[in-house]
Parts: sequence; structure tokens; C-alpha cells
Amino acid sequence: MTDQPITAVYPGSFDPFHLGHLDIVRRAVTIFPRVVVGVLRNADKTPLLPAERRVELIRETLDGMPGVEVTAFSGLLVDFMRESRARVILRGMRAVSDFEYEFQIALMNRRLWNPAETVFLTPTEEFTYLSGRIVREIWHLGGDVSGLVPEPVRRALEELRMESLRNPAEA
Ligand code: ADP
Repeated sequence: MTDQPITAVYPGSFDPFHLGHLDIVRRAVTIFPRVVVGVLRNADKTPLLPAERRVELIRETLDGMPGVEVTAFSGLLVDFMRESRARVILRGMRAVSDFEYEFQIALMNRRLWNPAETVFLTPTEEFTYLSGRIVREIWHLGGDVSGLVPEPVRRALEELRMESLRNPAEA
């Protein structure tokens, strides 16, 4: 193969970026010299936060962490990998329930572009129960998400709450 430094992409909807995601990025930068966090634009028709806002918040959260870039993308992950000069896909593995879907996607990505290799990282135990869906549900029900998401994301969700209280129809 090549002896070029290996770039890894970490794709996801990150709606919102939470402490489980942050844990994976922190681990990834100790292994790969360049990690590109890829924020999927088209995953959900009605996201909590628009993709460009998610990118801003992840950048703010990861500010100063060397070797990390954050970009939004749409379309096939393997096309985004080629654009980013990456050949590793990073995925978080929380529990056995993640396995079947992740295994299928990993094989499909390699079928679409043979150099693509998927690497699974596991978070620290206390974040294994965290998911974007759980954070969104807590937020929708008016709960406190501090301790689940990084500070810039907490502040953005707080602002979103104030906005939704002012314009309830848009929430
Ligand atoms: P979520 O499942 O939280 O909505 P995404 O769909 O955006 O997040 O997933 C992006 C990547 O982050 C996936 O590889 C997913 O397995 C991983 N991930 C999500 N939550 C966690 C967590 N709590 N710990 C480790 N990895 C996670």
C-alpha cells in the first residue's frame, strides 16, 4: 500500500454532537494524523439543527484539537472520502445492537470503493447509552442536556429553546 499518512473520516448526522461523539474524536486523533468529521446534510428531513450550524458547533467544540477538520457533506460517503483523501471510515460501536447495521454498511462501502476500510472505536462506558435521538427527545420534553453534550451545543440548544418558546409554531 502507500506509506502516506492515513486520513480517517468520521461520518454522522451529529444532530446534535454529544459527548459520545466527542469521546470517539478524542480517541481517533491519537491514532490518525488527520481526522475529518463529516456532517451528513441529508440524513433527516427535519433535523433539530441545520447541518451548517452543526458544523459550526462541532468546530467550536473541537477548537484547538490538532489534526481535526469538520465539513458538511451530502451524497455517498465513499465520494466524500475520495474528496477528503481518506481511506478509513471511523464508526463508534456502542453495543451489540449497533453491530448488524454497521457490519452491513462497512461491507457496502468497501464494495462501492475497495480501499475503504472501516475502523470501530468504543467510547468510555458512561457514554455507551448516549445517542442523538435520546438527546433530541430530552430536549423536546424540556429536559436538561448538560452533561450529555459539549458546552457550545448546550448553549445552542438553550437558545433554540428560547426561540421555540417565542415562536411555538416553529418548534
Ligand atoms: P447518533 O447515533 O448519536 O445519532 P450519528 O448517527 O450521528 O449519532 O452517529 C455518528 C457515529 O457516532 C456513528 O458511528 C455512531 O455509532 C457513533 N456514536 C453515536 N453515539 C455514540 C456514543 N454514545 N458513543 C460512541 N459512538 C457513538
